[in-house]
Amino acid sequence: MRQLLATGWMHNRLRMIVAMFLSKNLLIDWREGERFFMQHLIDGDLAANNGGWQWSASTGTDAAPYFRIFNPVSQSQRFDSKGTFLRHWLPERAKLDNKSIHLPHNCGELFFAVDNYPSAIVDLGRSRFRALDAFKHLPKRNDT
Ligand SMILES: Cc1cc2nc3c(=O)[nH]c(=O)nc-3n(C[C@H](O)[C@H](O)[C@H](O)COP(=O)(O)OP(=O)(O)OC[C@H]3O[C@@H](n4cnc5c(N)ncnc54)[C@H](O)[C@@H]3O)c2cc1C
Repeated sequence: MRQLLATGWMHNRLRMIVAMFLSKNLLIDWREGERFFMQHLIDGDLAANNGGWQWSASTGTDAAPYFRIFNPVSQSQRFDSKGTFLRHWLPERAKLDNKSIHLPHNCGELFFAVDNYPSAIVDLGRSRFRALDAFKHLPKRNDT
């Protein structure tokens, strides 16, 4: 989010991670995020942004199954394995080693003593199950 606010751009993968986190882990209406992206993206485009958000939020307009929920930590471990991107945008984490940088809340006192980094706003595992449950119990559409 710091990159978006500073430059007006984010890589497609990050857009997907952000959109899934907001709409699935936090269960916030995808239109809130879509609006925010349109306000800040330098390439903001109604069709691409709206489609990207709906694809990520699994609103039913695309082929992505609703149970696809990216885990921001494993995405980070996979696509920023050395933490280069994290160190650039989150200097508070810069001193952490390549493994801990992805999981600051597991670093206990060292992390908090040094950085006073805000604690996690949601439990990724539990919120994932909550989202899956919410999707499973959506009222069925009456197509008639
Ligand atoms: C939640 C979300 C919101 C998005 N909002 C926008 C937006 O407002 N405007 C916008 O142009 N794109 C949007 N995208 C699509 C994509 O993120 C950007 O097009 C891409 O990041 C642009 O990077 P690039 O110019 O380096 O192109 P590259 O990543 O190098 O891609 C090459 C070409 O493919 C196109 N492209 C790449 N990924 C996608 C994609 N997922 N969907 C459609 N075209 C793609 C690019 O526009 C470019 O023309 C969004 C994606 C998501 C998941």
